[in-house]
Amino acid sequence: MIIDDVVRDRTPDGWRLSAAVDSALTPGGQRLHFTVHGGEPEWMPPVGDAFLAALMMPAMALKEDVHVHAPVSRRLFRSASTITDLYTAWWPHLHPVDLRAPVATRGGGDAVGLFFTAGVDSFYSLLKDIGRSAAPDWEPVTHLLFANFERKAGSRYEHLLERLRHVAARTGKQLLVIDTNVRSTCEPTAFWPEYHGAALASVALSLQGLLGRCLIASSDQYRYLPPLGSHPLLDHLFSTEGLEIVHDGAEATRAEKVIRMAGDGDPALDDLCVCWKSEPGHNCGQCQKCLGTMVALELAGASGRCPTLPAALDLELVRAVPMPDEPGRDTMRSLAQDAENRGRQDIADALREGLRRAGDHRQVAG
Ligand SMILES: [Zn+2]
Repeated sequence: MIIDDVVRDRTPDGWRLSAAVDSALTPGGQRLHFTVHGGEPEWMPPVGDAFLAALMMPAMALKEDVHVHAPVSRRLFRSASTITDLYTAWWPHLHPVDLRAPVATRGGGDAVGLFFTAGVDSFYSLLKDIGRSAAPDWEPVTHLLFANFERKAGSRYEHLLERLRHVAARTGKQLLVIDTNVRSTCEPTAFWPEYHGAALASVALSLQGLLGRCLIASSDQYRYLPPLGSHPLLDHLFSTEGLEIVHDGAEATRAEKVIRMAGDGDPALDDLCVCWKSEPGHNCGQCQKCLGTMVALELAGASGRCPTLPAALDLELVRAVPMPDEPGRDTMRSLAQDAENRGRQDIADALREGLRRAGDHRQVAG
C-alpha cells in the first residue's frame, strides 16, 4: 500500500485533506479524504499522520506493507508498532506488516476537541468536562467534532445537525462537521467495531493544526474492557507530539452516565440521540441502543424525562430485542449488573432473558 500525494485543497465551504492510496483497497484509484466545513487552511497540515492511522488496519487485513510518502509524526510512527501488536493480538485475521515513512516532529494547535454524536457516551464526557472547567489550569473542550462517517445527507441528517448545533450553542462550544470516505473505503477490510477508534483518531489527526488535545468518549467501563476499536490501551497511541488523543469516560457505566445526564436541571436529555437503526436524529425506541438507554433512564429515576424516547419502559420489548453484536451485548450485561446493584431485579431478569434469547451464555459483566 502506497500513500502518496497528500494535499490540502479549498472546498466551497471549507478545506479538504486527501491522499492517493495505491492498494487492493482502492482498485478504482479512489483518494482518501477528510473535509472540514469552515475553518482555516492551517488546521489541516498536509502530512501523513491521518492516513497512516486510517490505513493500518486495512493494510493488515490485506497483508500489504505500508509506505507513506509524506512526513509522519515521530511519536505516532513509534507507537504504530504497538498498535499493530494490539491489533494482531486481539484480531487474528490481521497480519503484521512493515510500515515505512519519513518521520518529523511538529507542534499542534491549542483547541480541545470532543467527538460528539449527542449519544450517552459523548454527552457524559461533555458534561464531565463542563463540570471541571472551573478547576485551575483545566483546558476545557472548545470544539465538538461530528465525523460524518456514514456520509449522511437529507432532512433527517439536517435534523441531527440542528440538535448538535443546539448543544454546541447551549454549552458555548464550536461545532465542526467533518465529511470523510474513510469508513466507506476501508469497511470491506475493517470491521467497524474493531476500526472506529482508528477512524476517529484519523479525523482528529487531519485537524492537527487546530487541535492540541482530542477526547474519544468511551463506550465500555474500566471494570470490563473487551477488545474494541476504541479502547484505553489503544486510543492514546494515535497521539503525536502536538496532539494528545484521550480515551475518556471509562470510569462510568452506562447507567452512571445517564444518571449524570439526568442530574439537576441539566437539559442534556432534551437532545439525546442514541439510535442509529433509524435515520439520524431520530430514536426508534425499540432497538438495543434505545432500549438500553431507556433502561438506564429508568435506573436513574428519569423515565419520561427524555423527550426523544418513549416515556415508559416496556420490559417485554427488552426481553425480545435483537442483540446482534458483541459490544451491544456487553452494554446489556453491564446494565443487568447495574439493575441488580440498584435493587431492580425485574429489569435485570428482563435483560438476562433478552441476552439468553440473543444466544448469549455469559450473562454477567466483569
Ligand atoms: Zn433505536
